[in-house]
Amino acid sequence: MKITDLKCAIIGNNPVVRITTDEGIHGLGQAETTKPYLKPHVMFYKDMIVGEDPTDVERVMLRIRRLGAFKPWGSAVSAIEMALWDIAGKAAGIPVYKLLGGKVRDKVRVYNGAIRFPMKGHSPDDYAENMAKMKASPEGFSIIKQAVGFHSSMAREVPGFFYGEVQPRGTRGQITERGLKHVIACVEAMKGVLGDEVGLALDCGPGWMVPDAIRLAKALEPLNVMWLEDLFTGDYTPYVLADVYRDITMSTSTPIHTGEQIYLRQNFRELIEKHAVNIIGPDPEDVGGIAELKWIAEYADLHGILMAPHGVFDGLIGLAAHVHVAATMPQNYIAFEYPIGNPSWWYDIVSGLPNPVVKDSMIDVWDTPGLGVDIIPDKAEQYLREEDKGFFDD
Ligand SMILES: [Mg+2]
Repeated sequence: MKITDLKCAIIGNNPVVRITTDEGIHGLGQAETTKPYLKPHVMFYKDMIVGEDPTDVERVMLRIRRLGAFKPWGSAVSAIEMALWDIAGKAAGIPVYKLLGGKVRDKVRVYNGAIRFPMKGHSPDDYAENMAKMKASPEGFSIIKQAVGFHSSMAREVPGFFYGEVQPRGTRGQITERGLKHVIACVEAMKGVLGDEVGLALDCGPGWMVPDAIRLAKALEPLNVMWLEDLFTGDYTPYVLADVYRDITMSTSTPIHTGEQIYLRQNFRELIEKHAVNIIGPDPEDVGGIAELKWIAEYADLHGILMAPHGVFDGLIGLAAHVHVAATMPQNYIAFEYPIGNPSWWYDIVSGLPNPVVKDSMIDVWDTPGLGVDIIPDKAEQYLREEDKGFFDD
């Protein structure tokens, strides 16, 4: 089998990758909704993969993987990898999870990252009220993540929150005693709503200074939060800072999490080998794809590190990729961050997903060939941009 074409269309805000072959089989991949600029990044790789056998996924990846980097520069490579696995699965007539080593579980747990309700403000009462809405959502999430500290607008909206200056992007600085107390009060208010029925994860930064982060983590120890995420790096930080994470991880029993922006297994090595965090969250749409994520999960497990992959903006093709790889991870798997179709018409143009997708915080792993989801051309045509007409032609 040979790859005949690589295409990218922006559908809604999601870049979608479509690889066609000389045997009439096509594969799909997707990148985050936050990257509508991705098309030229994807097309950069076209000449490197056309003519190759897509079912030799690794050999194709060797041609393009070295030309990627931390978020957002690993996204195109990751979306292409996903589409190659989709083709390989379809060609073999088996679901992608079997190509990744086979199922460890029949249903995969998800946590809430994408089902959101507008915040009225940033007081403890506002956090409690907002959390009550998420707790009541029909997916029955067993873990909910909320943004606090520098990952929220607290630095801007809570007077005297910290000693630095608010930046348009990348605000950092030492927090005041008042700021620290405010964050803790908001977490206590959310825990008051969730009790011990639903786990609370906190997306915190980046932006924290080490002593403040240690104080926060220690103060939250009695509350048993699931994890503190991205205190020092994350988002679009093009480096890791494993030693800085190690300082806090060794100082507290509150689990510490990072890794959504990191590209490739090599860049997780220090975090894992130094036991610098307790939980890592590679995103299959940024880390280099689903086999990359599977490899990292296995290596993390050897070191006692848990997996909670990032995925909030990954779209419905990305959701399918998450389900397949999550089904194959070792028992260090906790849950992946559940992405939704955005806009909601995405659910009308994608076939193959269960309905409802999530029941009691779990997704049943389906066993149709490839990723097992497809875009229905007749329904999707209307949403294609003028320059993307012809996206579904073979
Ligand atoms: Mg995060």
